[in-house]
Amino acid sequence: MTSLAPYAAHDDQSRGRRFPEPKPAYRSEYQRDRDRIVHSTAFRRLVYKTQVFVNHEGDLYRTRLTHSLEVAQIARTIARALNLNEVLSEAICLAHDLGHTPFGHAGQDALNECMRDFGGFEHNLQSLRVVDTLEERYADFDGLNLSFECREGILKHCSHNNALQLGELGERFINRRQPGLEAQLANFADEIAYNNHDVEDGIRAGLISAEQLLEVPLFLEYHAQVLAKYPALAGRRLVYEIVRRMINRLVTDLIDSSAARLGASGVMSIAEVRAHPGPLIGFGDSTRELNLALKTFLREYLYKHYKVRRMTSKARRVVRELFDAFIDDPGLMPDEHRAACTRMELLQGPAGRARSAADYIAGMTDRYAILEHRRLFDPSERT
Ligand code: MG
Repeated sequence: MTSLAPYAAHDDQSRGRRFPEPKPAYRSEYQRDRDRIVHSTAFRRLVYKTQVFVNHEGDLYRTRLTHSLEVAQIARTIARALNLNEVLSEAICLAHDLGHTPFGHAGQDALNECMRDFGGFEHNLQSLRVVDTLEERYADFDGLNLSFECREGILKHCSHNNALQLGELGERFINRRQPGLEAQLANFADEIAYNNHDVEDGIRAGLISAEQLLEVPLFLEYHAQVLAKYPALAGRRLVYEIVRRMINRLVTDLIDSSAARLGASGVMSIAEVRAHPGPLIGFGDSTRELNLALKTFLREYLYKHYKVRRMTSKARRVVRELFDAFIDDPGLMPDEHRAACTRMELLQGPAGRARSAADYIAGMTDRYAILEHRRLFDPSERT
C-alpha cells in the first residue's frame, strides 16, 4: 500500500469531533465516520429519493442511494490514484446527499422558496444538519459527531449569511479558503457520476436519444471509437460502452490534471491546501470544455424536457402544499415533529416553526411525500 501524500487528510492531524471521543480501536477516524453514515436513518431513506426521475417512475433509474454509491466509487479511484485519503473521500460522498428533499432538485427549489423568509433551504446545509443535529442515535450527542474534515466536505456550498452562523466550518466561505483535497475531489466525482448516469437514464426513459447526443463532442468521440471496434453494436450496449469511456476519460483527466497542479503548487500539507488561492483538484482545459458541453446538453434536452417539467411542477406543488399545511397548523405533523416544532418555535419564533416543517419535509422520501400529501388533502384517504 502506498502511503498518503503529505497534503492528504491524515487521521492524526484531524481537527477532531465536536464532542471528543476516544480513538477507535481498530478503525481510522474516517472509517468511523463512514460507518456512522452507512448506519444512519437518513442513509436508508436515500433508496426512495431521486434526482431527476421520481421514484415510482421505474425501478431501474438511479436513486439517491445508487447515485451516492457511484459517486463514492469514482471518488475512491481518484483519491487512491492521488495518494489522498480514500476512506475520507468515500465518507464524504456517501453523506453528500443525506439532506436532499424528496423529488430531487424540484423539491429543493420548492422548499427553498417556502423558506425564503426564514433563512432559506440549502440541501448541502441540510446534509450537514442531518449529521450534526437531526440523527438521533447516540446517548451523548445529537447527530453523528463526525470529524471536522468530513463535515467540511459535506458542506460544499453555503450562503454568506449561513456561513456566518456556522463557526469554524463557515470560515472558509467567508475567508474564501479551500476545503481539503478529499472534499474537492468529491465534488467532481458527484458531477462525473450524475452527468453520465443522467445520459443513461434519460435514454432509458426515452427523453433523449443517442442520435441527439451526437451533438455532444465527448459522446461523439467515443461513439466513433466504439463503432470502429464493434461496427455492429447498437442499442443499450452501445450506450453503455460509450458512457463508460466517457467516465473513464473524465476520471483519468481529473487525476492527471490534478496531479500536475498539485506538483506545481508545492503544497506540503492540508493547511497549505486550505490556504491555496484556488482549488487544486480540477480538469484540464480541454476536458473541462467537453464536460461543460455535456452539462449544457443535459440542461437543454433532459432537465427542460416537458415530461420532466410536468413531474417537477407536480413535485413543487406537493412540497409547497405540505409546507403551508404544516406551518398553518403544526399539530398536523406526527408527534415527534410537532414536539420539535414547539421546541424550536420557543427558541427562534416563526423561523423555528418553519424550520421544523422543512426538516420534516426534507426527510421524506418521494413516496412518503406523495402519501402524506394524499393523507392531508384527499378526504377519502386514511389519515
Ligand atoms: Mg449528488
